[in-house]
Amino acid sequence: MIEFRKVESESTFLDPRKGFAPTTVRFQVRVDPLTGRTCHFSHFGAIKPQKLDLAGYHDPAVKGFCPFCPEHREKATPRFTPDIVPEGRLTQGEAFIIPNLFPYDIHSGVVVMSDDHVVGLRELTRERLRNAFALGIGFLRRIAATNGSLPYHLMTWNYMPPSGGGLVHPHQQYFATAHPGNQFMDELSASQRFAERYRQNYWYVLARREAADNERYIARLGSGHWMASFVSLGLLGEVMCVFPEVFSLDDFTDDDIDDLVAGLERVFRYYEDAGVFSFNASLSFGPSDQEHFSCYFRIVPRTFLNTRDFAPDLNFFQAILSEPICVVLPEDLCREVKPYFK
Ligand SMILES: [Zn+2]
Repeated sequence: MIEFRKVESESTFLDPRKGFAPTTVRFQVRVDPLTGRTCHFSHFGAIKPQKLDLAGYHDPAVKGFCPFCPEHREKATPRFTPDIVPEGRLTQGEAFIIPNLFPYDIHSGVVVMSDDHVVGLRELTRERLRNAFALGIGFLRRIAATNGSLPYHLMTWNYMPPSGGGLVHPHQQYFATAHPGNQFMDELSASQRFAERYRQNYWYVLARREAADNERYIARLGSGHWMASFVSLGLLGEVMCVFPEVFSLDDFTDDDIDDLVAGLERVFRYYEDAGVFSFNASLSFGPSDQEHFSCYFRIVPRTFLNTRDFAPDLNFFQAILSEPICVVLPEDLCREVKPYFK
């Protein structure tokens, strides 16, 4: 049912580093078993995440004006309209949700995750993570209750500047939308086709198959199956957590949040040791009336290629060709992450 297709290939050139002797370099193209989308794997080990100067983000000249810092929130951040959130804004612990001043969709909520402006991975504590996810998901449930015409729900997260995050102050974005993006829609429609063809849920079959193959499967924590994705959307590899029994927002319980957070903490410990300072992440939910598209969480490290001219880690491949490239084989990434889940 699921085919993990790799096209292995090589390129030969006369290498100036070896007196122009012929040198052959291998690379792979992998095909996503669900969507058929491809990803190039090459340049192995050539790109290392760059260290960020977190203390430097406190420097007033670098920091600038931060609307998310507690002293500015009241005046500088928007409030929801009373039909959506009568309270205007909502809080849970340190987490604080407001509308996005620059909305990408009809309902676009921003969860500010902390009072502190600069929060390293170690300070993204279980408590802070749990409160942020619970508050954001609670917000999406409110939207779902008032506007059933927006079937898709997602959390997206840029952490630290290399990820494209405009503010260092940690925050997540929560959307209720009819247009969740091309990747989401491709996976949704391919999941439906898979279910029609095989009478089974792709994500359930994937989790079972990855666990059996044990090449990319990291661990099961409660309801979540953690794995290194066969096709990575990130340059430095992608870790994914699939919740096969969760189809829509309604199915995602507080226990699921705890399971997600427990895994995320382990990924963060790995990131700390691997020198990862920045990432993009998402959590996706399908419509409420189906059982073919399961919830998943996806996280990819981000880095500047260097801190001399701050070249970004995305290039024409992603920007123009919509083709991910990855310099880490998922099987190697899995081997590195797995000890953190023991
Ligand atoms: Zn701030």
